[in-house]
Amino acid sequence: MDYVFQGQTYLFSSTCVDALSSNRQRNFLAKEIGGQLFARFKEGVIVVEIATVTSGRSRRTKFGFWPDREAERQDIARLFKDGLHYIGDWHTHPEKHPTPSSTDIHKALEIFKKSQHELNAMLMVIVGQARFPDGLFVGAVTALNVSACNKTDW
Ligand SMILES: [Zn+2]
Repeated sequence: MDYVFQGQTYLFSSTCVDALSSNRQRNFLAKEIGGQLFARFKEGVIVVEIATVTSGRSRRTKFGFWPDREAERQDIARLFKDGLHYIGDWHTHPEKHPTPSSTDIHKALEIFKKSQHELNAMLMVIVGQARFPDGLFVGAVTALNVSACNKTDW
């Protein structure tokens, strides 16, 4: 599955899509969950290979997810050794067709500014309850804002 933002193609591997899909909040009581996205850069295409689930002392409610930042830093360091670059975050929403909340946007812009990277854009993925692709929001985070990426293929 491919998304494009400003001429850059992001290819999500099936492993990554399966990991995201399996964490959908399927029932009323399910809590939000999330993690990080890791990619390899291949000949102009950014291949998003892995979606981690942040463990450690993350806090979860039905309407919020506050990841354990130390656990996230450890995941970044560990996967970097395998050539996988941190490229953004994902979390679930208890709605069919997810859109970012103002808090989501605020947090993403802050992460973009604070992270050490040379990316034009980072990714913000939100996993809703509907089957993909309808239930998936893929956003590009820049220094200025968050915009939805265009889906080119499924
Ligand atoms: Zn959210």
